[in-house]
Amino acid sequence: MPATYRSGLVWFRRDLRATDHAALHHALRQCQQVHCAFVFDQDILAPLPRDDARVAFIQAALVELDGALRTLAGHPDAGLIVRHGHAHDELPALAHSLDVGAVFTNHDDEPEALERDARVRTALAVSRRAFHTYKDHTVFERDELLTQSGTPYSVFTPYKNAWLRKVDAFYLGAYSVRRHAQALAPRPDWARRPVLSLQDIGFASPSPMQQRLPTGSSGAQKLLADFLSRIDRYDSARDFPAVKGPSYLSPHLRFGTISVRQLARTAHALVSQGSPGAATWLSELIWRDFYFQILHHHPRVVQHSFKSAYDAIAWTSGPQADAWFGAWCAGRTGYPLVDAAMAQLNQTGYMHNRLRMVVASFLVKDLGIDWRRGERYFAQKLLDYDLAANNGGWQWASSSGCDAQPYFRIFNPVSQSRKFDPQGRFIQRYLPELAGLSGMALHAPWLATPLERQAAGVVLGQNYPLPIVDHEQARQRTLERYAVVKTSEPPASM
Ligand SMILES: Cc1cc2nc3c(=O)[nH]c(=O)nc-3n(C[C@H](O)[C@H](O)[C@H](O)COP(=O)(O)OP(=O)(O)OC[C@H]3O[C@@H](n4cnc5c(N)ncnc54)[C@H](O)[C@@H]3O)c2cc1C
Repeated sequence: MPATYRSGLVWFRRDLRATDHAALHHALRQCQQVHCAFVFDQDILAPLPRDDARVAFIQAALVELDGALRTLAGHPDAGLIVRHGHAHDELPALAHSLDVGAVFTNHDDEPEALERDARVRTALAVSRRAFHTYKDHTVFERDELLTQSGTPYSVFTPYKNAWLRKVDAFYLGAYSVRRHAQALAPRPDWARRPVLSLQDIGFASPSPMQQRLPTGSSGAQKLLADFLSRIDRYDSARDFPAVKGPSYLSPHLRFGTISVRQLARTAHALVSQGSPGAATWLSELIWRDFYFQILHHHPRVVQHSFKSAYDAIAWTSGPQADAWFGAWCAGRTGYPLVDAAMAQLNQTGYMHNRLRMVVASFLVKDLGIDWRRGERYFAQKLLDYDLAANNGGWQWASSSGCDAQPYFRIFNPVSQSRKFDPQGRFIQRYLPELAGLSGMALHAPWLATPLERQAAGVVLGQNYPLPIVDHEQARQRTLERYAVVKTSEPPASM
């Protein structure tokens, strides 16, 4: 096929890998010469703490990507051009300096990213350069799966069934890069610089605990290989935070250091060989697609409840709520499983899925605090923070989302603890001050006998808090608070 453009530019964003990459594949096939770039976007970086672990994760991924592009090109001057500035200015300026005919990039459907891309598209059009965008981050996106009446799905199970009916080798196939890699261009003199360091962009290394996850595409493949050795047990192990059950691949999916097609293809093949673990795991990848299409079709969920009646709920506010919120963030609620989970988040940037549900439910239904406050805290702390999945998870927990748990289902933090951390191993790992307790005393230290607490060196109100709310009373308050949605809730559409 003759090339359409003399030269093109691939703009990497949440797809930091050099294999199975839609935009890179299309650029290499349509251009004689292909440049590759990434912009550390000041609009995104400005509000972040200087030791944000995600910035370090991205920087490490870029170093690996830069090397991989050079290897693929087989040319010492090839590689990634990395800029620091406002993406909406830097990208068109770079396209101009390189004099490319088109920019190629993968979809990012978060509302702010769409605005940014619209600005870039307009700026490029002024200088008669094309802007081509592709699906890459999900298996299905946007309007690819609709109900028979042509509307978006808002219930997971029929969405999943439609997903499984439609998926085939075409949708799961890899976008080849190596085969066309001879089109990768050497960088011009002025762009031949090593990847910007954290210091270059005003950032510093995060704490060692936040850097334990292997980075880059090589790190993702290492995690995948490890997970595949235990994927058959995923369905039975995934709910127990003290057990190595899940894949820990979420930051890699977030930043695209691994292709979702590779993961879905692998899981799909194992499902056909009868692996129940792989079937459950594939469902989780489908949840991910589901929430992306919800965000695409209903961008109002960023600010509002998916079910609008839930915006009438009067959340707790004022000094009492602020104090409770502070205790929740710091892991000082007096409920050990909640506090251990928040310690995991604060120390590592990760939180086990079961615990995300438990702490979200606790914030919304025990403390009566608006889910949006918890969502924002997760957005600051999670290494895998992804607007679509985070919003979906929080709206699920607060019952305001599509296909959420019913409002009257209120997790009991002590029962959850006994069920999912039965020996208290997870609690003991993150709350060493309680390590001397066991059994029920560990799940609910206020129920321990004075003797038990004394033997374990636990002094409630001193080295570990008393519960900040009584769960039973909180439950009653929540049922009253949610009464406003009882009559106004429309039936969920399929
Ligand atoms: C309140 C709340 C907030 C959440 N915030 C995020 C977030 O910001 N980013 C994020 O990626 N996930 C989020 N999740 C979903 C889920 O908790 C994480 O994806 C999962 O814990 C990541 O760990 P893992 O990679 O080991 O997961 P695994 O169990 O190995 O799952 C594999 C992949 O499937 C996807 N996935 C799994 N569960 C879900 C789910 N419920 N919804 C959407 N995708 C899912 C993820 O990409 C994950 O990496 C949230 C869930 C809740 C309840």
